[in-house]
Amino acid sequence: MTSILFRFPLLLGADVCDARQKQELIDEFFDHRPFLVAVVVMTLAILQVCFSGQPTAALMAAGLLACALVVRIGAAEAYRRYGRGGDERRWLRVFAATCVTIAILWGSTGAVLYLAADANMRLAVLAIGCVLIQAVTLRTYMAPGPTLAQVLILIAFHLPVLAADGLTVLVPICLLYGGFQAYCILQLGQVRLRQMHAERDALRLLDELQRTNVELTRANLRLAQSALSDPLTGIGNRRRFEEALGALAAAAEREGSALALLMIDVDGFKRFNDVNGHLAGDEALRGVAAVLQATAGRLGHVVARYGGEEFVVLMARGGLDEAGALAEEIRVTMGASGTVPLTVSIGVATGAPPEPPSALVARADAALYAAKRAGRDRVVVADADPDRDRRSA
Ligand code: GH3
Ligand code: MG
Ligand code: MG
Repeated sequence: MTSILFRFPLLLGADVCDARQKQELIDEFFDHRPFLVAVVVMTLAILQVCFSGQPTAALMAAGLLACALVVRIGAAEAYRRYGRGGDERRWLRVFAATCVTIAILWGSTGAVLYLAADANMRLAVLAIGCVLIQAVTLRTYMAPGPTLAQVLILIAFHLPVLAADGLTVLVPICLLYGGFQAYCILQLGQVRLRQMHAERDALRLLDELQRTNVELTRANLRLAQSALSDPLTGIGNRRRFEEALGALAAAAEREGSALALLMIDVDGFKRFNDVNGHLAGDEALRGVAAVLQATAGRLGHVVARYGGEEFVVLMARGGLDEAGALAEEIRVTMGASGTVPLTVSIGVATGAPPEPPSALVARADAALYAAKRAGRDRVVVADADPDRDRRSA
């Protein structure tokens, strides 16, 4: 019995709704506009009874209806003033009590009207009763408990009235109708509850999916980042350099500008490793990268480790003078930094499309070897003709 009653809760799916949804449902409970429609229909029946020569009965019915109106509007007003954001369970109980009271008042109004009405009008009063019951059942999707109470009370009022009118044959039909309505409320409630659970699960899944997507995007970004950076020094790797070279060469072609490239090679690094060990060598490479970042990187140029102890600086709009000056600044800073106990040789070249980017690399490389052969710890700026550097080297 108790388990059956649990299927008719005051608020359907209270465990599925969030606080905002609950609030919206309770707000709807106390909206008295649908109730006013029923009052209008009842008033018409009262007027009919009044004009058919039964003013006392009409007055009684009007009094009962007025009481229902006062209860309903009074509850709505109390909720409007004190209810919002308050204890929801208390207001659900207030709503249920209002439903029961109104059903009793409606039932009594109907009984008075029925007993006072002529034969045709009785049919109309019965029809109004059925319409009210159907209208109440519509509320199942929100509040099965109060709905069931109202339906059963309204049916209960029909039974003695019909029996008193000698229509005992209608009593079992009325009971059947009540049972059918209760069954409908139960079924509708179950269907709605399943739907609410499905909606909640779908929302949860969607939420999970969105979170996973965000994580995936972040992981992809990290992956893309790590694919382009050098694990030892943290600056760009050769792939990053090649991507930047392709992109900047395309931009230079569009804008008709030139690129400048610095190729930097640590001097005597093999010996440094041999003497100090590879860990110290690694530390020295990190120091070289830090100096490059602090000089060229700070100015927005692309800084990358080309491979081994070789690094590159790519300048988007570099003239030879500007690039040569930056190379000299790097060389001097490297020696003065204190963190890098080594010197570097730097080859500088500029180039402009349609010459392929590889020609720029070749020219900077040739200038670098010229610097090595000229005694290391120096900058050699290539002129426009790469073969000249090779010859002079
Ligand atoms: P040069 O002045 O002509 O450039 O002489 P070098 O000794 O610097 O040049 P070489 O090409 O003979 O040697 C480069 C050395 O760099 C050899 C290699 O062991 C070392 N090296 C390359 N990558 C790393 C690295 O990641 N860590 C360390 N510690 N050493 C590296
Ligand atoms: Mg080298
Ligand atoms: Mg070297």
